[in-house]
Amino acid sequence: MLLAHAGADVTVFERHACVGGRSSAIDAETDAGRFRFDVGPTFFLYPQILKDIFSRCGLYMEDTITLKRLEEHYDLAFEKGPTLRLNSCIEALEREVSRIDPHDARNVRQFVADNRKKFRKFVPILRRPFNSVLDLLRPDMLRALPMLRPMSSVDKDLARYFKNPKTHLAFSFQSKYLGMSPYRCPSLFTILSFMEHEYGIYHPVGGTAAVMEALRNAAEGLGATIRLNTPIREILTENGCAVGVQTDEGPQKADAVVVNADFAQAMNRLIPDRKRKRWTNRVLERKKYSCSTFMMYLGIEGTLPNHGHHTIFLAEDYDRNFAEIEAGTSLSEAASLYVQNACVTDPGQAPDGHSTLYVLMPVGHLRDGGLEWTDETRAEARKLVMARLEKAGFTDIEERIRFEKIVTPADWEDTYAVHKGAVFNLAHNLGQMLHRRPHNCFEDVKNVYLVGGGTHPGSGLPVIFEGARISSDLLIRDFTPERPRSLNKFFRKTPAHALS
Ligand SMILES: Cc1cc2nc3c(=O)[nH]c(=O)nc-3n(C[C@H](O)[C@H](O)[C@H](O)COP(=O)(O)OP(=O)(O)OC[C@H]3O[C@@H](n4cnc5c(N)ncnc54)[C@H](O)[C@@H]3O)c2cc1C
Repeated sequence: MLLAHAGADVTVFERHACVGGRSSAIDAETDAGRFRFDVGPTFFLYPQILKDIFSRCGLYMEDTITLKRLEEHYDLAFEKGPTLRLNSCIEALEREVSRIDPHDARNVRQFVADNRKKFRKFVPILRRPFNSVLDLLRPDMLRALPMLRPMSSVDKDLARYFKNPKTHLAFSFQSKYLGMSPYRCPSLFTILSFMEHEYGIYHPVGGTAAVMEALRNAAEGLGATIRLNTPIREILTENGCAVGVQTDEGPQKADAVVVNADFAQAMNRLIPDRKRKRWTNRVLERKKYSCSTFMMYLGIEGTLPNHGHHTIFLAEDYDRNFAEIEAGTSLSEAASLYVQNACVTDPGQAPDGHSTLYVLMPVGHLRDGGLEWTDETRAEARKLVMARLEKAGFTDIEERIRFEKIVTPADWEDTYAVHKGAVFNLAHNLGQMLHRRPHNCFEDVKNVYLVGGGTHPGSGLPVIFEGARISSDLLIRDFTPERPRSLNKFFRKTPAHALS
């Protein structure tokens, strides 16, 4: 959208028959009717960035995307109780936390206030590229540094406010959004739970895939061409510079190539190792990757009105669960689960009198010597999930299943082209963030730009939208030599023809 609006001649090559990748939909036609599931993201946070992208292109996001702000964010169910029902109201948050620990409840406001400051300091940093170590010395970074606490983790940072381990979990399970353990996730990411409480959680009507379809339509309206079922086989280069892409139909010439495919997969498959200096296969192999997920998408007869839209079920032995996910050699008996019961908000996702259940169990990513996803492993994981669902209060599900689909880490790798099935990309430890993450303007091949969860600022939809904006700005700067330092002016003066 941004590039087409700026006047570039844009072609998107997508290997699948639909847009969206991990954010596409599973549409299942059954005798009962159509069930629709989001493949991946279900928590839609901080829509402001997407709204800004639409408005920069002269469009209103609200014309094509309906976001419902959830009144109840989620049910946070601890295996041995209590179950908290959380929303954006600070008094309600204090009240619910006091059910865990009244002392901790007294510090909720301080936590929120401190994270509001931290968030404001970090937003400008997440909005710009980090192409060199010198970017760490810019004034905004230096101002934010005291709040970064680089040696501290999310869990350690929470200890400054809360004593009870359950309260820690209530404000730290969000590091799973990055596929990381709160014990390893940098303390910066306490802003994730803050953002939920401050800005709310949204459900896009029609699911997250509906947002992707709206983006596709908007891009086409701005002049971009979308070529589905067209896998890229190689990024073509001459003298270290991208000159186009190879598809099954032959070479497609281009002045610049924007790579949205999963970073590590794209490197392994699309640019030969010898053409890469920094991001060689050896280096990629040594990097840390996020966890993966075992998914069940269930079409259920009947409705589930007693369950909220989102339920997070936290294992009693959470530490063991994390250790097992990180080791990636076995299934964790002590599994935590996330369940989405979307039809309480969006009944159109299932036929009348039916519901959809999306069940996510975090598991280790694929690795040498790790768990192998054979038919037996799938069956074992399914059994485990069904038993955990029962514990989480989703009783008599089994006999009401009218549609079922399972996705394992091996499917993430094979079907969705995600390296090692690590669905939240390269991990977000400090050694793999900012200038140490693959740069938006790719270091190893000129005129290649990166977008998606594998580049700066990182994984998760709002951040990915921000990364797309950063990369588009860099590309426009590089191809607009007469206005090298004034992107804003460039955008203001972009002719309206691109909107017609
Ligand atoms: C189960 C799950 C739950 C999640 N929950 C949330 C959530 O609640 N909130 C949130 O914000 N984030 C969530 N995420 C993370 C979020 O989905 C990802 O960060 C994001 O979707 C990644 O987007 P991307 O554009 O980087 O990659 P992708 O979505 O994988 O897009 C890459 C695209 O490139 C295409 N492609 C790959 N190779 C080629 C090729 N050779 N030629 C042509 N096309 C190619 C793919 O088909 C795909 O369409 C979740 C992820 C998963 C898997």
